[in-house]
Amino acid sequence: MEKIAVFPGSFDPFTVGHKAILDMALPLFDKIIVAVGVNSAKKYCFDTPQRVRAIADMYSGNPKITVETYESLTVDFCKQRNATVILRGLRNTTDFEYEKTMAQTNRALAGIETVFLMTPPEYEHISSSIVRELLAYGADASKFLP
Ligand code: ADP
Repeated sequence: MEKIAVFPGSFDPFTVGHKAILDMALPLFDKIIVAVGVNSAKKYCFDTPQRVRAIADMYSGNPKITVETYESLTVDFCKQRNATVILRGLRNTTDFEYEKTMAQTNRALAGIETVFLMTPPEYEHISSSIVRELLAYGADASKFLP
């Protein structure tokens, strides 16, 4: 059976931290679906096609990775795609506390396990929100973007 993981996120925008997690996860799964969240109540800095294209263009040569949008509960999207694992990245204990609750909820809801990968220390401080802040002030954020 193919081992399929879903890597869900806002990716607003996709940073070098996200890329590090995805690249580390590649040898662990047969297929990884990067699931770009679309929440009509949420205001994104980059629109959905931009968020998708930034990732899809980067991995266009890699048949293991596909990029899709989704609007449902993450576990429902996983079931539709026959994915048994949710992939998430961890930077610090704040991430851990939040992710623990999500992982336990998703397991209780659907029996779907979450696999966490630790970010490389050099990317620990990088977040999409910091990148958005830099861009808003016209600063050069290119070193944080793959
Ligand atoms: P969400 O809105 O679902 O938190 P994000 O796009 O912010 O979506 O993050 C998606 C995943 O990537 C999360 O698991 C998050 O912890 C992880 N992540 C974000 N930034 C980094 C980073 N610098 N290093 C490793 N993982 C990261």
